[in-house]
Amino acid sequence: MSTTKYIFVTGGVTSSLGKGIISASLAKLLQSRGYSVTIQKLDPYINVDPGTLNPYEHGECYVTEDGAETDLDLGHYERFINLPTTQANNVTTGRIYQTVINKERKGDYLGKTVQVIPHITDEIKRNIKLLGKKFNYDVVITEIGGTVGDIESLPYIESVRQLKWELGPTNSLFIHLTLVPYLAASGELKTKPTQHSVKVLLENGIQPDVLVLRTEHPLNLDLRKKVALFCNVEIEAVIQSIDVSTIYEVPLLMKEEKLDLIVLRKLNLPENEEPKLIEWKQFVDKLKNPKKEINVGLVGKYIELPDSYKSIMESFIHAGSVNQCKVNIKSLHSEIIDDNNVAEMLKNVQGIIVAPGFGNRGIEGKISAVKYARENNLPFLGICLGMQCAVVEFARNVLGYADANSTEMSRTTTNPVIDLMEEQKGVTEKGGTMRLGAYPCDLKTDTKVFGIYKQEHIIERHRHRYEFNNSYLNEFEKAGLKAVGLNPDTNLVEIVEIPEHRWFIGVQFHPEYKSTVVHPHPLFVDFVREMCSCK
Ligand code: GLN
Repeated sequence: MSTTKYIFVTGGVTSSLGKGIISASLAKLLQSRGYSVTIQKLDPYINVDPGTLNPYEHGECYVTEDGAETDLDLGHYERFINLPTTQANNVTTGRIYQTVINKERKGDYLGKTVQVIPHITDEIKRNIKLLGKKFNYDVVITEIGGTVGDIESLPYIESVRQLKWELGPTNSLFIHLTLVPYLAASGELKTKPTQHSVKVLLENGIQPDVLVLRTEHPLNLDLRKKVALFCNVEIEAVIQSIDVSTIYEVPLLMKEEKLDLIVLRKLNLPENEEPKLIEWKQFVDKLKNPKKEINVGLVGKYIELPDSYKSIMESFIHAGSVNQCKVNIKSLHSEIIDDNNVAEMLKNVQGIIVAPGFGNRGIEGKISAVKYARENNLPFLGICLGMQCAVVEFARNVLGYADANSTEMSRTTTNPVIDLMEEQKGVTEKGGTMRLGAYPCDLKTDTKVFGIYKQEHIIERHRHRYEFNNSYLNEFEKAGLKAVGLNPDTNLVEIVEIPEHRWFIGVQFHPEYKSTVVHPHPLFVDFVREMCSCK
């Protein structure tokens, strides 16, 4: 097929309705019908990428293979369609303006006034079309962040309005996601907010082709008819998205609602074969019918907002399904853990994960938690900063270097067991300058991690500035903490483990970014298996 088809997904009434999950579910269905699909997110904020945002502001920052720091929805896309995304899959207003302003300075628009229309909108359209052009996808689904009516998202809405006409009939489609609230007092579902939200879209020149209505209760035919009538859509194009216990059920529900079929018909694409979702269903079945249950402690400092650790949470869901085990994540605030209360705080968990992070806040609590896990043979997985904490803890309490630290936390420590990477020493700008994205790692074969990965060469994603200080490596190894995975080019320590311990692994990379429904990450799968056997 030569022409790429474009699907634009907007949201109305309120944020957090699950545009990302609907987009990912539709992509999954189209993919299972044999189409090549990708999903893109347009974010309306001025940051060039979310890398400089605090997780409280925006949830987790997701990192792609090519080292882009992106919106967490890209994590959902990858987990659903099991294909890597790239920088081109996430565009922010900041990035758009940066490009346009750089062009203006170079003189690309000499003599012209640079304006939102056409210069900003042209740059937005170029970014939307880029994916289809570059990778020749059959379908590109573009999710527009925010809610229609927001000042910030107007240039995006205007751009896709223009694109519809440029692409020609049946080459693009608009899906609008809204909420149908339930009024308990009168026992009624209300469609008025949907009607208003479609009106806002119409004011901006966009007639949605498909409406996806998020609801707590099933929508009856009359209600669907009413929405169809008031919003100028076909009744078949009024799709119900009912609340479910797991997001992984959504593709199955969208299939029942025939979202894929209506989309293909409107885009004039053949239906091809019925989606084969056998594996997917097995995954959901196992997830919903666990035979065991464990508690894992997640030690972090952003626990008030569960989205801060989205990919870790989802990785545990994948690993839980494989093990047919319900994994309860017990969030533990690292700021309130200390050596005195740690035993009490960890008394009901079968293992702990110490989360990634930046800066000093909560660091001593993380170190106390590591110490407890190490001394009590409690399964431990440390990710990025979590691994660095494990190294610091070992240096202080086993090697006897009381002031050991990471130079991120103490510049004056006499034992910088974690230190700034050489390549970072001249870096002054904060945006996009970490060691980011996929790097290779070679595993030593007589190790636990090799038994888990069952391969010698792995590639994992990164997001850090500090690393294990190799001048201490011999001392660590002699005392029982081994470097078992190294970057083959630089010898950067990527994985440490304590062979004496039942399950103690720290990784400098982020395994959570690579766990998908089809390929649950082996480290999480084995960690959950071990915790199940503890019980
Ligand atoms: N702050 C640490 C570093 O920059 C760890 C980063 C992380 O956990 N992602 O190396």
